[in-house]
Amino acid sequence: METFTLVFLIALAAGTLLQLWLAGRQAAHVLANKHAVPDAFAGRISLEQHQTAASYTLARLGIERLKLVIGPLVLLIWTLGGMLSLLDAAWLSLQLSPLWQGTGLILSVLLIDMLIDLPLQIRSTFGVESRFGFNRSTPARFAKDKALELLLALLLGVPLLLAILWLMDSAGDYWWAWAWLVWMGFTLLISWAFPTWIAPLFNKFEPLADGELRARLEALLSRCGFRSNGMFVMDGSKRSAHGNAYFTGFGRNKRIVFFDTLLDGLKEEQVEAVLAHELGHFKRRHILKLLLTSAVLSLLGLALLGWLSQQTWFYSGLGVDRQSDALALMLFILMMPVFSVFFSPLMSAFSRRHEFEADDFAAEQTDAQALIDGLVAMYRDNASTLTPDPLYSAFHHSHPPAPVRIAHLSSKL
Ligand SMILES: [Zn+2]
Repeated sequence: METFTLVFLIALAAGTLLQLWLAGRQAAHVLANKHAVPDAFAGRISLEQHQTAASYTLARLGIERLKLVIGPLVLLIWTLGGMLSLLDAAWLSLQLSPLWQGTGLILSVLLIDMLIDLPLQIRSTFGVESRFGFNRSTPARFAKDKALELLLALLLGVPLLLAILWLMDSAGDYWWAWAWLVWMGFTLLISWAFPTWIAPLFNKFEPLADGELRARLEALLSRCGFRSNGMFVMDGSKRSAHGNAYFTGFGRNKRIVFFDTLLDGLKEEQVEAVLAHELGHFKRRHILKLLLTSAVLSLLGLALLGWLSQQTWFYSGLGVDRQSDALALMLFILMMPVFSVFFSPLMSAFSRRHEFEADDFAAEQTDAQALIDGLVAMYRDNASTLTPDPLYSAFHHSHPPAPVRIAHLSSKL
């Protein structure tokens, strides 16, 4: 067996077993704490709500575990199982130009992966989410969403793929630096276009109505010296009862979006505190840091791909006997998560530090108690577990566990 095959298999096995073990810990921890509401939440979340959150967490873990088993199997079939080689031969037999043949190969692999994932998505939406009363989507809407997502992915993905494969072929040894520029331009274009062109294809956005809430939020924005292109309410309730708030776009094109479900569940001072938290991410330059981090990581990734695509063992080690730009790119996309999963705790830690900073900002600008109350209402309404396993949480969660976050905010009172 080739050395690289062995490295790949060991990483795949280790990553999968690690995640299955963590999921097992999470299930055990949630079950063990099911009988009592943690002290910090006593009187605000009922035992019944706490137990529903536990059952919901376990049901979602069930789907996650299925993914952890199916994902590596599919990956093995693509690579060492020879499926990618077979599909490559099929596209080759069509005698298209290498550029279109490569684009066709990558698109068909991604499409098949999407189809394999579809039953789990259906099970999640119409099984788990429906059972716990969160799903508001219908099969017709679900099908329409998926069709639209596919169409968008093709419209945006085909030109991007053509550009990158063309650069790989024609831009010389440093093609990856050019590809990086194209990639960065593409991501900036998408984030700029998202609020005005893409998101409205899926949801309706109404400007936040005049009134006390709006006046209060505008006062907060001007107090923090924040300019935006407006505050909008999104009809999230047509798909799910889960509530949220987010920023989108950049420069003058940025918008603040509230899910209608969030505004229904929170009091005005709590919405204000939640918005202050989101503003904290901007004011503490988290968005910029994230953008720079992903720019550096994608440059390193593309440079790595530039090197790997010239190594024979990279192809043969992953079950492919022909060398081409498209095969290199596809193998890289398939292989990266196997290795990057081990950096997950690092990304989570990075993100959590930002969450604490944004909470601190909200506590300074508004009221820590209002944010605590708002968060507790969101944990309750979203059936989030209050008792995650610490290791599982450190690995997977971008936000600190509920008790840790509430304790941190309480120290600001
Ligand atoms: Zn945050």
